[in-house]
Amino acid sequence: MQLPPSLRQAIERELAACEPAKLRAASAHLTRSYHQALAGGVPHLSTPEQRADAEDVARRLGDLSAGVYDQAVMHVPIETARAAREEARRLNADCCVAIGGGSTIGLGKAIALESSLPILAIPTTYAGSEMTPIYGLTEAGIKKTGRDRRVLPKTVIYDPVLTLTLPARIAGPSGMNAIAHCVEGLYAPDGNPIISMFAAEGIRALARSLPTVVREPKNLEARSDALYGAWLAGVVLGSVSIGIHHKLCHTLGGTFNLPHAEVHTVILPHATAFNRAAAPEAMRIAAAALGAKDAAQGLYDLAIAVGAPIALKDIGMPADGLERAAELATQNPYANPRPVEYAGVLELLRNAYAGTRPSA
Ligand code: NAD
Repeated sequence: MQLPPSLRQAIERELAACEPAKLRAASAHLTRSYHQALAGGVPHLSTPEQRADAEDVARRLGDLSAGVYDQAVMHVPIETARAAREEARRLNADCCVAIGGGSTIGLGKAIALESSLPILAIPTTYAGSEMTPIYGLTEAGIKKTGRDRRVLPKTVIYDPVLTLTLPARIAGPSGMNAIAHCVEGLYAPDGNPIISMFAAEGIRALARSLPTVVREPKNLEARSDALYGAWLAGVVLGSVSIGIHHKLCHTLGGTFNLPHAEVHTVILPHATAFNRAAAPEAMRIAAAALGAKDAAQGLYDLAIAVGAPIALKDIGMPADGLERAAELATQNPYANPRPVEYAGVLELLRNAYAGTRPSA
């Protein structure tokens, strides 16, 4: 489906006007109005490493704050979710502030799923979870995801200053994670031309900003640009369905406890190559946004340019787990342009394990 040129130009003008600096100004306003709206106890969620950030927000909220809960960890184990829910009940919380990456926001979502508590999210990575109604919970080694409007944060505050401390080794893979949302949005069966424009703009913003973010960590302009790309990517992920790439990452993350953003970085070029022939228009748009001839190779080269891992063997994947991963990923597969069959997925995983450059 094609957009009429006049509508397309109007949307492109809107996107061009939506500079990160303006997002920052808007967030200041949201902070004020949110403070006025809050009435009761507010717990602040974070990982143990980001406790100081959560304490800073708690201090600013003064008496409205109910305390800091710093036990967020990756993939939201069900035990962690249960403990956080219990703490929210104990504190009689009526709102939840989550400051951090997808793990912390994911913990807020686990609380909201059960209690409908509103979440105020302050993202400090590029994962994009703050813009989605998607939650994930890991139980007995299996990560399950679902969609529920109750977990979509009610307010999101983007402040690129908070990302200045994000080390290059986390920033690069985190940005690649956001690009993965955009790539899958381009071939989603329920996609549409507006989401495709968001996805292409998200890839463009992240591909141009990430190399600077990792090279010059204090470059606020590049950090703002990357957060802008992450916002677009989050909108894409929250609006349309996901395919083989996300299915594989959920399987590898939940079952083998591999680091989330790094798994996305390693799998993305190979999942893109897997779908290349079945989704030519998506590949054309992604390649153009990356400034590359081929989308899969452009993604692989970008991962190298940002110093991110490119092989599953380097991020903790056991060689004897590939068959099991292929089996799990082909059970109840997500909708995908190319049929998801065991042999093709195993080959994809073997290439990702070795970290070979996708062939043209
Ligand atoms: P993360 O939240 O696990 O953070 C990684 C590490 O970086 C943590 O130690 C954290 O404390 C630290 N960190 C974060 N921001 C920092 C900053 N500004 N300065 C210094 N350190 C900082 O990593 P992530 O990749 O953002 O999130 C991964 C999780 O998010 C996974 O569980 C994934 O499934 C989930 N996720 C969910 C969605 C969704 O829509 N539901 C989308 C994307 C990711």
